[in-house]
Amino acid sequence: MYLISACLCGVNCKYSGKNNLNKDCVKLLEQGEAILICPEQLGGLTTPRKPAEIIGGTARSIVEDGIGKVVTSEGEDVTESFIKGAEETIKIAKTSGTIAAILKEGSPSCGCNYIYDGSFCGSKIAGEGITAYILKRSGVDILSDKEYSEKIEESNKLIYLSDYDFKRKDVDENFGNEESAIVYSIIKDDEEIITDLPENVEKNMKRLIITMAKEMFGLETLEDIESATGFTKKEILEVLEESKDE
Ligand code: SF4
Repeated sequence: MYLISACLCGVNCKYSGKNNLNKDCVKLLEQGEAILICPEQLGGLTTPRKPAEIIGGTARSIVEDGIGKVVTSEGEDVTESFIKGAEETIKIAKTSGTIAAILKEGSPSCGCNYIYDGSFCGSKIAGEGITAYILKRSGVDILSDKEYSEKIEESNKLIYLSDYDFKRKDVDENFGNEESAIVYSIIKDDEEIITDLPENVEKNMKRLIITMAKEMFGLETLEDIESATGFTKKEILEVLEESKDE
């Protein structure tokens, strides 16, 4: 179960009265794995509302030492509402036992890695929002919407990254192998041995993986298959040519 910034699932709770729809987050909601929160609304702010940014400090310094504040583009101090919203969010996390959150990057409440710099000019700086900071401090794992989508995209791509493929990567990196040989590891007398696959097995393995990429994942272009499987274009073409001849 994830706490998710409500705007990512299409709720029009953004300051502008709009949302930040993210299809990967919507999927979690549809699967019943999401609790939606909007800290700014939970803190009592209206929607639409004036945009706000952190000035004179960081989320940490505001929460821990009272240094800095959150102000709207019209200069109104809304720090209290932001802190209240974060506290309400923590209550929801605790009551539901949720230990992970996917939050909208860049927001003065939900930003995980960056926020806007307080000038209301669209300039970003490293930092986090008030709710993101308080959630993290309470032991909740936070992930931005961007990071979550990248993770999903990566896992869709990784057709065959089983253990031996990670080993293969290690071997390639450690020994500077130019050729992308498939390797696998075996445990013998408690010792791990990394070795090449026999040639015919390797060929069949490549064919299987490339066929999966095409048939199961619907990948058409050489570039897509290359990025999904880790094989070079030359290897892919060879396998496809051979398959044609059979
Ligand atoms: S980023 Fe967070 S506070 Fe802002 S609208 Fe979305 S859920 Fe609400």
